[in-house]
Amino acid sequence: MAEVLRIDGLTFAYSNGTAALADVNLSVREGETVAFIGANGAGKTTLFLYILGLLRKIPREVTVLGEALTSVEAVEAVRSRVGLVFQNPEDQLFCTTVFDDVAFGPINLGFDAETVKGRVTQALAAVGLEGFERRVPHHLSTGEQRRAALATIYAMRPEIMLLDEPTSNLDPRGKKEVTQLLKEFPGTKLIATHDYELVLTIADRVVLLHQGRIRANGSPEKILTDEALLQANDLEMPMVLRYFLALKNRAAAGNG
Ligand code: ADP
Repeated sequence: MAEVLRIDGLTFAYSNGTAALADVNLSVREGETVAFIGANGAGKTTLFLYILGLLRKIPREVTVLGEALTSVEAVEAVRSRVGLVFQNPEDQLFCTTVFDDVAFGPINLGFDAETVKGRVTQALAAVGLEGFERRVPHHLSTGEQRRAALATIYAMRPEIMLLDEPTSNLDPRGKKEVTQLLKEFPGTKLIATHDYELVLTIADRVVLLHQGRIRANGSPEKILTDEALLQANDLEMPMVLRYFLALKNRAAAGNG
């Protein structure tokens, strides 16, 4: 599979001097789902914002879909092909109707009214919000807002989706629904998350960030069961895995 994202030696500090990313090197292949885990402040959100040129106008360490982002024009060109779903749906939904929010991207892509309408209908159906066109976004439940925010990005049919904590603040049913939606989305996905169930369900690979550095990059099973690695990076092994490993060890001891 082709490489769709590449980052070479990215170091970034905010203007107040806070170091946020240090020597990040990364390669993502077409169709991969990569989960970014890390304690709060590890640099996950910064990485996503950086990739889209939202922190530095020209993110020259980044190559997206074969385009090195060495000019403002190159950054603008990839923005229609890479969608960012913000951690807080309210940052994504700013219109007075769900229709207008979901139509916003396709209108900006220059589609005619008929195509825009079709894209909105399809995107809302994809996230299970059929018939929500006239609803007021800020009156929706958290789960509905989350799905509406996803629809605004689906409607543009991006080749790469960057999702910042897509299941945070959802109840267990809501988490399961969003996990399923993401599983069905066909493109390449980069997901920043603390939700290990989401990681184990849909990620092909895990990248562990700590204090702006990539500390591990490997299979979800390997990284999420490495207690020493997790603890050294201010993370904890998921309870369910701890329990599973304990059972497995007990069974092995019993057999031995
Ligand atoms: P994460 O998404 O993993 O929680 P962030 O990317 O939000 O981490 O933060 C990385 C570091 O950058 C943290 O030290 C955070 O305090 C800092 N940071 C984030 N946003 C800003 C900002 N706008 N200005 C200054 N520092 C920031």
